[in-house]
Amino acid sequence: MQTMQTYWKSVEPKALEVFCKIFNINLNQNELLAYICELWQNQEWQKAICVASKFKLAKQLEEQLSVIAFLVKKDEIELIKILIKNNTELATNAVRQMCTNKHCKIAGKIIKSAGLKPDDFPALSELFIKNALRYFMFCDNICLYQLVELISDIPEALSFVVEELKIQGKKHKGGWQICMAHALLNIHPELPINEQVKNALSIFTPRIHKGPSQNFSCLQPEYDLCYPLPRNSIFFIDTCEQLSMIDFNRNIAGIDCEWRPCLFKFQKTKVSLFQIAFEDGVFLIDMIKLNKEPLLDEILMKFLQGEILKVGVSFAGDKGMLNKSYPHMKAFKKPLKNYIELINACTEITGCNPGGLAGSCELILNQTLCKYEQRSNWEIRPLRESQIHYSALDSYVQLMIIKVLCENHNCQPEELIGKSKKRGSSGPSSCKHCDSKSHKDKNCPRGPRCKICYMTGHKADKCQN
Ligand SMILES: [Zn+2]
Ligand SMILES: [Zn+2]
Ligand SMILES: [Zn+2]
Repeated sequence: MQTMQTYWKSVEPKALEVFCKIFNINLNQNELLAYICELWQNQEWQKAICVASKFKLAKQLEEQLSVIAFLVKKDEIELIKILIKNNTELATNAVRQMCTNKHCKIAGKIIKSAGLKPDDFPALSELFIKNALRYFMFCDNICLYQLVELISDIPEALSFVVEELKIQGKKHKGGWQICMAHALLNIHPELPINEQVKNALSIFTPRIHKGPSQNFSCLQPEYDLCYPLPRNSIFFIDTCEQLSMIDFNRNIAGIDCEWRPCLFKFQKTKVSLFQIAFEDGVFLIDMIKLNKEPLLDEILMKFLQGEILKVGVSFAGDKGMLNKSYPHMKAFKKPLKNYIELINACTEITGCNPGGLAGSCELILNQTLCKYEQRSNWEIRPLRESQIHYSALDSYVQLMIIKVLCENHNCQPEELIGKSKKRGSSGPSSCKHCDSKSHKDKNCPRGPRCKICYMTGHKADKCQN
């Protein structure tokens, strides 16, 4: 045994733990730590970390030699992962040292895998917010009115947009960006923005910031489908009394949900609206307000499990989101009964895969469906009239499509229950200008959109909205 005690240092470090087990050797912790540090100083980093993690001396190694900072600098991510495995304290330390553009993605992954709380890393959150905003300020599928509404309750995000607009405006020699920055500052004078920026903006005339549309209509009714029934056929339900008055004695309903989209990593969201469309009107149920009411759970359980036919587009995803948002509700835990998947029904009957709701609308109704409000802030109350219009139409149009589909092909909606996914002729790539999956960007009848208001037909520098 004496020989074994002196022999252990020549064992391959990766095999040391097994070696000790086989020969029943209990190594002295101090001696072991000295050995690990020696390996480290001989630049045998991988071996040092391997032994340290196997013998639970990772924390001591970090304390002695600040190895995490070194490994981050060297970009040795795999070694960091081994070192911090099963050690919350070291994982936290590593994340703190990875709040840079280069390493923030990995830091985000460590937060998830180590079960850390994102709120404990404000510097990292700020980085995620800035990177995301830099992307959204220039991408095609979100306009600035919408972006500003989506971050209206996140002051650090709004400030960043103002500062970024100022920089952009400077590049474009006092373009609309700088006038918009000034307008935003006027609307939110409390924003944490430094005086220098404020003074620089003050010499430019603020742009009139109308924000997203307030009209009960789609964005451009001259092109896109509008809700065909009068406004008073839509009911916003946010009390139990209103809820108890809904008559569920119907044959068929269109179902859909809306929630505020997450722009940043670790941003949380919950289902805001559950829409139920009947042939003569639509109920918009305020999930945020009513989710704790036993009556809602009971009513939705009966509805989702009942005889009534339900038409939706990938409603399984919405149901998963409902369950995640409101785990205390029972209604979303059971499989849906009597459900028609609209896309599968369209594909089955026409032989053509429309890709999504907008595509189905084009394929069956020959009309384009504007998806603009989908990415809006569904947590604001009251909702804008444009959001009311969108959410009602999004659920109602499914009934319109099923009706025409059945009329044209001489079938009954009941026959379409549970149709499984079929391959159709069209691919699922979507047009970046209008979200439709039934044509490509270059064939889009509408073309690029204004970065300020999202309408087609003009560019941001000519925007009158
Ligand atoms: Zn929808
Ligand atoms: Zn298009
Ligand atoms: Zn515009």
